[in-house]
Amino acid sequence: MNQPAFILWVLCSVGVNVWAQTPPQSPPGAGPQCLAQAYPDFWAPWRGELAPDNTLTTRSGDSWVYNELKDPLSQTALLDQADLMTQMAQAYPAGFPAAIPGPNQDPGRMRSEALFKALYGHTREAVQHHLVSVPWAPNGRSLPFNRLHGAASALQRVGESLAQHPELAAYVRQPAGSFYWRNIAGTARKSMHAFGAAVDFALPRQLGRYWQWRGCKEDGPCPYPEAVLRDPLLQQVVLAFEKEGFIWGGKWAHFDTVHFEYRPELVGSSCKNVK
Ligand SMILES: [Zn+2]
Repeated sequence: MNQPAFILWVLCSVGVNVWAQTPPQSPPGAGPQCLAQAYPDFWAPWRGELAPDNTLTTRSGDSWVYNELKDPLSQTALLDQADLMTQMAQAYPAGFPAAIPGPNQDPGRMRSEALFKALYGHTREAVQHHLVSVPWAPNGRSLPFNRLHGAASALQRVGESLAQHPELAAYVRQPAGSFYWRNIAGTARKSMHAFGAAVDFALPRQLGRYWQWRGCKEDGPCPYPEAVLRDPLLQQVVLAFEKEGFIWGGKWAHFDTVHFEYRPELVGSSCKNVK
């Protein structure tokens, strides 16, 4: 290869590599609208654009800066410091077939903790005050879940839908935890379980996989358990959750296949007509 050709080859290789590792992004401008419309009891009605100072306004008149982070941060730093824009940056790929997530493709895993505390409660006691007992139709028992912003009623609808399909019972009759005031393992960040807005299940056939159980590091590669994307019954379970505004941790590079969390700003009807 002569020198110009070599340089061109290097540039192309770098370009392809960068492209391949950039997770799918949400359409520009969609994030603030999806966020505002997903939590209409918290945010003021959407007016078509952010305020000139890049803020969203709450119903109580507070302003939240949409893009607080001025400098590029590493993925690990983003997890700890996610602002609203970071939270909305990666598009969640609802439905199937689902591709194996690319490196750092973790749509929904970067969360503005300040927002979820404001939505669901700043302390254990505050969150507990908002918990209700949700009938879980697949096993006839109930689960504590946060009643705010439609979370509990959405979970109840998921359960009623899943209970119509006895063939799915093995996947969803054994919840393995909903509300639990705790941090995400190995971090100082609150889990969505702390807000009573996430639920785990004991999955059959060794489909329950968590990246930390594999001994993977946050900033390193982790072999993705491809079998979880090929299980047709698990797909039906995931679709039933996504239909009601939940995302599934199995669509993250840092996979958590037992985990579903209520995130209507990423998958809910509020975002369906946003281009
Ligand atoms: Zn979980």
